[in-house]
Amino acid sequence: LPRTTFRFAPLTTRVLFGAGTRSALPEEVRAAGITRALVLTTPHQAEMGASVAQGLGDLAAGQFTGAAMHTPVDVTETAISALRAARADGIVSVGGGSTIGLGKALAARTDLPQVVLPTTYAGSEMTPILGETENGLKTTRSGPEIQPETVIYDVELTRSLPVGMSVTSGINAIAHAVEALYATNGNPVMDALALEGIGALVSALPKFARTPDRMAAREEALYGAWLCGTCLGTVGMALHHKLCHTLGGSFGLPHAETHTVVLPHALAYNAPAVPEVIAALRPILGADPAAGLHALARDLGAPTSLRALGLPEEAIARATDLALQARYPNPRALKEDAIRATLTRAWAGESPI
Ligand code: NAD
Repeated sequence: LPRTTFRFAPLTTRVLFGAGTRSALPEEVRAAGITRALVLTTPHQAEMGASVAQGLGDLAAGQFTGAAMHTPVDVTETAISALRAARADGIVSVGGGSTIGLGKALAARTDLPQVVLPTTYAGSEMTPILGETENGLKTTRSGPEIQPETVIYDVELTRSLPVGMSVTSGINAIAHAVEALYATNGNPVMDALALEGIGALVSALPKFARTPDRMAAREEALYGAWLCGTCLGTVGMALHHKLCHTLGGSFGLPHAETHTVVLPHALAYNAPAVPEVIAALRPILGADPAAGLHALARDLGAPTSLRALGLPEEAIARATDLALQARYPNPRALKEDAIRATLTRAWAGESPI
């Protein structure tokens, strides 16, 4: 991509990647300076958390299994009490973006170190960003204390992620890389990671959608998710992420599914302004990359309309207003009519234009 001026100042996270790497957790926890770790999960993954805690032996100070979507502040406050009661001096998060979000919320308040074992492809583990909700409002903040110190990508922990969620979570990851390619503060390193990450996920998702236990395909997907998460943590996001943030935060739509529906339409909106990005995506996604993303989701049985996710048609106008409120860099000018038309196509499940 023709970038002629750029800055590159990544935050660093220590990364272990590979099947079985969770066996290195005790030494990684110690290396992060933790002597008593609180292990976090959602209620659904409590058993996985218990097995991780067991592997930690004396280094485990307890388990907190109440992580919830969109990091509600009241859950964080309960978890802070659990952290204090257990006299924990570090955090081990086992799960997707919801659990990792709780770990980040604790770190933001205590500056304790975090070791993360991701089990979805959402990418939060590689970012210094925390989104929290209080009284129905979602706010985002960012800081080096929020970025996890260590990430252990053990593909075996993703085996139980249902196929449908694997597909939408994988497309959520692709969305980070697509927007990195046209980020105004992007750089050639992130462009290369973005294309490699998108390529890995586009190759992997159809394979394990057919045979969910094919670990080689899950490994390829997790590798792609790591690269895409790195993009999300390093450069700024644009229209697509803004729309999804609004739809999730103000209308309660599910995170990964919303990304899956909106991405082809957001890319189609920006396409006229970034012909070089479209050209770079063609070898991976076909002659029309936005249509290619739409077909990928449809062929794998993922949702393709906001209507199917429960958004009422009347919400389109308010979602358009909200998405236009904050100013952020986007390759194509943000025009109310055009954004409303884009959201309307996404709502109805039409192909992107
Ligand atoms: P999630 O963490 O909410 O997980 C969804 C459900 O799947 C949960 O019940 C979870 O326990 C379960 N699950 C996860 N992994 C599993 C596995 N391997 N096997 C079985 N069940 C499993 O979903 P998500 O899409 O990973 O995360 C979404 C949240 O993360 C949103 O709140 C979003 O805003 C946030 N997020 C934040 C960032 C960031 O940088 N701050 C980045 C991406 C996502």
